[in-house]
Amino acid sequence: MPNNLSLTIDAARLQAEIDTLATYSDAPAPAVTRILFTPTELEARDYVRGLMREAALSLREDAVGNIFGRWEGADDTLPAVATGSHIDAIPFSGKYDGVVGVLGAIEAVRALRQAGFTPQRPIELIMFTAEEPTRFKVGCLGSRALAGKLSPVKLLDLTDGDGNPFDAVRRQAGYIDSLDDVELPGGHYDSFVELHIEQGPRLEAAKLPLGVVTAIAAPATVRVQFEGSGGHAGTVLMPDRRDALPAAAELILSVEKIAQSSTSPDAVATVGLCHIYPGAVNSIASRVYIEVDIRDIDLTSRNRMVDTVVQVAKTIAERRKLEYEVVVLNADDPCTCGREVIGAVVESIEALGYPYQTMVSRAYHDTLFMADLCPTTMIFVPSQNGYSHRPDEYTAPEDIARGVEVLAHTLARLAGGTE
Ligand SMILES: [Zn+2]
Repeated sequence: MPNNLSLTIDAARLQAEIDTLATYSDAPAPAVTRILFTPTELEARDYVRGLMREAALSLREDAVGNIFGRWEGADDTLPAVATGSHIDAIPFSGKYDGVVGVLGAIEAVRALRQAGFTPQRPIELIMFTAEEPTRFKVGCLGSRALAGKLSPVKLLDLTDGDGNPFDAVRRQAGYIDSLDDVELPGGHYDSFVELHIEQGPRLEAAKLPLGVVTAIAAPATVRVQFEGSGGHAGTVLMPDRRDALPAAAELILSVEKIAQSSTSPDAVATVGLCHIYPGAVNSIASRVYIEVDIRDIDLTSRNRMVDTVVQVAKTIAERRKLEYEVVVLNADDPCTCGREVIGAVVESIEALGYPYQTMVSRAYHDTLFMADLCPTTMIFVPSQNGYSHRPDEYTAPEDIARGVEVLAHTLARLAGGTE
């Protein structure tokens, strides 16, 4: 029985692999920059492929670059139990986000094999393409496409910041198959579990080594552009101005207030991007472009905040006689995790005797889209100081090893099988 499995997790080897993967970076260490289908990211893919092959997984890659490593089950007609995460990294971030769930899953497979475990269902490890929205402005590109939430037509519409179409970029990276074959049918997977760093401070504050995710917050992005008239900062007098930047400043303060005054404890809203044109000290801003990120577990509350931000942006623009464009770029639904998959993780943790808590994820992950295909959950391990998306992101090797151990036991439980 999986409960009796005695697994050895090689924390040192896994840490060495995490450190090696961090060297595939376009930023000087300790920062990591690894952006989809750049030469560096393609080399990193090769490194991961090598490790998957060493773990005796059979590889398949789809037309957007999702990589699947399959461990055949005793009954290969059964839907697979899946796990995985991403290895792309936003500019100047750290080496653990996503990576722990990919390299950790490989270590989990190695540990299960070493213990002589044979799964009944197949176990599939997925390295998702572009969880981060850095290059093509859409987060979870790979898992979104798998779930059918990013159709071939929409994929063909994507361009990066330099105007390169997604289709040309992926072909250049060697992915030439039809985009029609990316979407997976419902029932393709039995279940999905993602191991990930928490990226927040709660586990550390609670002095707990493990979190089991019960829901993932619903993110939405609102793009706002204010357009007024530019001009010389000395010669255009105040009554004659249509300055786009004070309008943006008003909106940014409103966004903060909208989230602060929400009655939902999980409501958050952020302006993390603001471009000012032409962007000179002696020039009135003719145009300002901002993006607002809005999240909540509660969909009604999240949607209410989105509506309010849209309305406030329009009101500000009209009062200040500016042209404007307000677009809700995306508004994904929150996901509730699968009871039985959560149960498998909890049973594994309890059998191992580790303390843990259940929690919601306020960051969004590939799991959000996998939830369209099958029941899911996530295993969180602590992030030092709650830091993530920065070079000093850190999770202790023993915490990662514990997460991998729980993941391995969970995969064994879900896949069924024999020692
Ligand atoms: Zn991540």
